Amino acid sequence: MTVTHTNPEETTQRETKSPLRQLLAVQATDIEIAQLTKTRQGLPARAACAATEAKLQQASQLQAKIKDHMDALDSEQKTTEQEIEELDRRLKESNARLYSSETTGLRAIEALQEQITGLKRRKQVAEEVVLDLISRRDSAVEKRDLVDAKHSEITQQLAQQTESLKTEEDKIDAVLKELSETRQAQILGIPQALLQDYESRRDRFGGVGVASLADQHCFGCDLNIMHPVAEVERMRQAPPDTPIDCSECGRIIVIVA
Ligand SMILES: [Zn+2]
Repeated sequence: MTVTHTNPEETTQRETKSPLRQLLAVQATDIEIAQLTKTRQGLPARAACAATEAKLQQASQLQAKIKDHMDALDSEQKTTEQEIEELDRRLKESNARLYSSETTGLRAIEALQEQITGLKRRKQVAEEVVLDLISRRDSAVEKRDLVDAKHSEITQQLAQQTESLKTEEDKIDAVLKELSETRQAQILGIPQALLQDYESRRDRFGGVGVASLADQHCFGCDLNIMHPVAEVERMRQAPPDTPIDCSECGRIIVIVA
């Protein structure tokens, strides 16, 4: 049978009964599905979300770091304040002993006074440490507030970007759903083995498993390649609906002209 027109789609519509022709239509749909899936994956909104997620993660890490720093300052302050309390207790004790009637003798009094001076010095140093810790904590609080504000800002930005991405994905998904339904209708009547053969070649040959052949040119091949007339004639002689391999590209060939 010789088909004179060269438009594969037109041909497919006219000869929907032929499983090989049906495959050409399935192939066209599969290309659309593949392109759209790629577009969906490569949506700029997806990259924007990923970048913002990374920023959010950085902000979260910074929050955790500041919290650890503040916890360490709090812990150090608590220890130092306990130390001050202990120094106070010892100072009280020493003062009591100094003014006690039991303490007599210049040497004992001098020793106690020296002890008291030492304790006071240590207390003063500890109090300075607490003041420094409080000041460092104030700075940490300032930094924490800034980072918290930035974190909220990024969270909000991410929510907006995620919503935009979802909107774009939904639009594409609706088209993909339609294409999937179209494909379901297109594969009706195609023998399972032929469909699997096509799908296997499609996956091996960069998304194209079946190609039309017109005027000695296979549309799956480099179009500069011209198949010899004798070869094309041999292909024409093959029993109908028997998949013929393109000798060049290995795809299933459907002769349309
Ligand atoms: Zn080919």
